[in-house]
Amino acid sequence: MIEVKNLVKKYGDHMAVKDLSFNIEKGKIYGFLGPNGAGKSTTMNIITGYLAATEGQVIVNGHDIYEEPEEAKKCIGYLPEIPPLYPDMTPKEYLEFSADLKGIEKKRRAEQFKEISKLTGIEDVMNRLIKNLSKGYRQRVGLAQAILGYPEVIILDEPTVGLDPKQIVEIRDVIKGLSKRHTVILSTHIMQEVSAVCDEVIIIAHGELVARDTPDNLGKHVSGSNTVELSVKAPDYKVKAILNKLGGVTKFEVHSDNDEGCTKALVSTGVDKDLREDLFYAFANAKCPIVAMNYSNTSLEDVFIKVTSGRQTDRRR
Ligand code: ADP
Ligand code: MG
Repeated sequence: MIEVKNLVKKYGDHMAVKDLSFNIEKGKIYGFLGPNGAGKSTTMNIITGYLAATEGQVIVNGHDIYEEPEEAKKCIGYLPEIPPLYPDMTPKEYLEFSADLKGIEKKRRAEQFKEISKLTGIEDVMNRLIKNLSKGYRQRVGLAQAILGYPEVIILDEPTVGLDPKQIVEIRDVIKGLSKRHTVILSTHIMQEVSAVCDEVIIIAHGELVARDTPDNLGKHVSGSNTVELSVKAPDYKVKAILNKLGGVTKFEVHSDNDEGCTKALVSTGVDKDLREDLFYAFANAKCPIVAMNYSNTSLEDVFIKVTSGRQTDRRR
């Protein structure tokens, strides 16, 4: 779908992107992750044809972004870091304007506007001025613009930045819904965002690719283990005794949780082992009910810090 080959971007003598290569397959949600200043926006601006690369190549659906920019750009909808909204337009006028730019036939617009305004939840504000809309609604209008024309790939640069928690959840739901029809690439510096919506993660730091995998695998491989979080209705000494006897456990931590009369345990095992069934039976046989069991999600945060640490990030002055 998209191939990025040996991309280099220099701003003066500062190399913002260094020999970056990756490919994007159809139908997935990709998280493009990295600390501030890592080169995410620069890369996205190059992929979408807004910025010229110093070296390297970007091919979108078989079209080189420099040689056949029109064809390549037709396949992409883009929500830049700062959405290019016109405050004195209403969302309806803005979508009309964007439809002109995208060359969408007049007769197909009404239906698309209806569908997309519903999907992004802006139906009720279509005739209000953009400058009077909240940040969350403006972001939705930007998103609607990116979806307009139903391009195969939708690229979103930090789509949830500056939104409140409720708006974040709502925008994430819209993004998840997009994956049925589109390939989505979203950049973020927030770990939870990636675990919440992405099928695959590409992590960059200082303009270089540092990791690429599914969110689950990244956690397992970098920490060298795979951790399950348990809450068990039993005293801590019993939980410890059961875990001590269970094969495959490489490490565990136990904390009693007095409020609920439960014991919490973090149980680690080898990278490719799934301990959940063994844990279930071990505790069930001991008549200690497990009331909650989850893969520990702190590990992705650790991955991020581990793979991006020791590298200088933002050099903007
Ligand atoms: P991110 O989106 O990951 O936060 P950016 O792509 O915005 O990162 O920036 C990558 C690097 O390039 C940073 O060090 C930043 O300071 C630098 N940079 C970005 N835009 C410019 C510019 N127009 N001129 C000079 N340096 C820039
Ligand atoms: Mg950015």
